[in-house]
Amino acid sequence: MNKTTLLSIKEKFGTRASDSLMERELYSRDLAPVPSWLVKLLFNALPEIVVRPASTKEISELMKLAWTEHVPVTPRAGATTVFFNTVPVKGGIVMDLNLIKGIVAVDEEQMTVTVRAATTWGELEEYLNQLNYACKSVPSSAPAATIGGWLCMMGYGPGSLKYGSLMSQVKAIEVVLPNGRVQKYSKEMTPSIDRYAASEGTLGIITEIELEIRALTSMKHFLFHVPDIEHALLAIKNFVGRKTIPYNIHFSDAHYMRTMKDLGMAHWDTKCGCLISVDYEGSVEELSAVEADIDMYMKSDTLLTRLPDAVAEKEWDERFRSIRLKRGGPSVLGGEVWMPIKNLPSYMRDLEQMANRYGVELITYGHVVSPEHTTMMTALFADETSALKYMLDLSLVKKIQDAGYRNGGCPYGVGLWNTPYIRRIYNRAGLKRIRERKRTVDPSDIMNPGKIYQTPFMLNAVHFHISMEILAAVRKVFQKGW
Ligand SMILES: Cc1cc2nc3c(=O)[nH]c(=O)nc-3n(C[C@H](O)[C@H](O)[C@H](O)COP(=O)(O)OP(=O)(O)OC[C@H]3O[C@@H](n4cnc5c(N)ncnc54)[C@H](O)[C@@H]3O)c2cc1C
Repeated sequence: MNKTTLLSIKEKFGTRASDSLMERELYSRDLAPVPSWLVKLLFNALPEIVVRPASTKEISELMKLAWTEHVPVTPRAGATTVFFNTVPVKGGIVMDLNLIKGIVAVDEEQMTVTVRAATTWGELEEYLNQLNYACKSVPSSAPAATIGGWLCMMGYGPGSLKYGSLMSQVKAIEVVLPNGRVQKYSKEMTPSIDRYAASEGTLGIITEIELEIRALTSMKHFLFHVPDIEHALLAIKNFVGRKTIPYNIHFSDAHYMRTMKDLGMAHWDTKCGCLISVDYEGSVEELSAVEADIDMYMKSDTLLTRLPDAVAEKEWDERFRSIRLKRGGPSVLGGEVWMPIKNLPSYMRDLEQMANRYGVELITYGHVVSPEHTTMMTALFADETSALKYMLDLSLVKKIQDAGYRNGGCPYGVGLWNTPYIRRIYNRAGLKRIRERKRTVDPSDIMNPGKIYQTPFMLNAVHFHISMEILAAVRKVFQKGW
């Protein structure tokens, strides 16, 4: 960016624009513990300026400037993503959207709310609950993640099993296009709003969203223990196929249960088998019918043990705290996989073999987000302060993704670090389609460049595969001295 552009941004935004090194450094990372020497070696993750616009008009003016001067712009909201989605790789401007906040209107007839994009899910839910309404679904990062941020990602989480992806609940959006033009899209328009699902800040800045809401109802939580993953799959299929579809199903494996117990954060006694939490919402009558139905089902499944209600409720209360696993760290590395439910047992068997081969404990939990799909998080403890060991451990994240791929899965989200897997995420036609769309909307590639569409040279699939295989082989040799 030339000096005149930088100065004009500083002049216009005053204290809401900062080029101080300390602040820029803070914006050159996200939640993922990637060693900064590695990042500096590969990319220009340091923005030249961080700007906090407060209105659609300001965003539009900033985008017009970036468009004319060909300056990269990386949008950042809650920054709860971990693949460098909000970290620039070509410098430029980081646009911190956190002042674009607040509820615009609730339409009680249409059962929708219009909200500014950087309102967090926690804030929206609290607002709606006061009016006896609720969000249809939220991410497990709801206290910090924003409405716009989740819309730009995959948009599946608690509630998706019953209500579908976030995109299926969105009626309209307002977007500032890369050229600065403000455009409203509705479901019925062509091009449709769907193009913004999983666009990860590469097609414009979303400023306002109208989405469906539901009436606030009672909830009933169940927590079950099963002896193994095969049985967990059987039970999950049963719950999904019954008359009343659960609001949410979450499950965790024996390694997760044991780790939580060892960390003093478990409210259950058992250390082996699998835990399945099943949550329902509805009227009091509907919930008692569900309970009666479950009692009946349990008579036919003697291996399913129901844990006390208080434990099930505690488990639900902790639904936004999965990150507490990090206490076993110093660091946690992990791979999140979008996978067909039916392949759960073979995925888990693959992981078990991998854990034995590399002498590592792999901790897995997942969400059933549709009748056919689950998002699986498999994690391992690592230590980012020990550079060599950490690099060797990083190779296991690829091994987790490979196990997912062998079982019909792919990475959940792309950003930068998952670009080597882009051909697992999109087929040839899909990749061609999203690249063409990007070229049409943003021909100079100023919006979040270096993400999704192309793999940077050093992360190129062949280099990446070879280097990760070498690291994994070295790790295997040295694991005994770990
Ligand atoms: C503990 C934990 C639990 C999680 N649970 C879930 C889950 O259940 N489901 C799930 O899908 N993900 C989950 N995630 C990942 C992440 O939290 C979500 O994807 C989240 O919705 C991202 O929102 P954000 O505001 O943090 O977005 P950011 O991380 O700030 O941004 C995400 C992407 O969108 C872009 N962006 C953000 N806002 C805008 C905007 N207004 N206009 C244009 N581009 C924008 C950014 O450039 C970036 O590419 C979890 C993460 C953590 C740490």
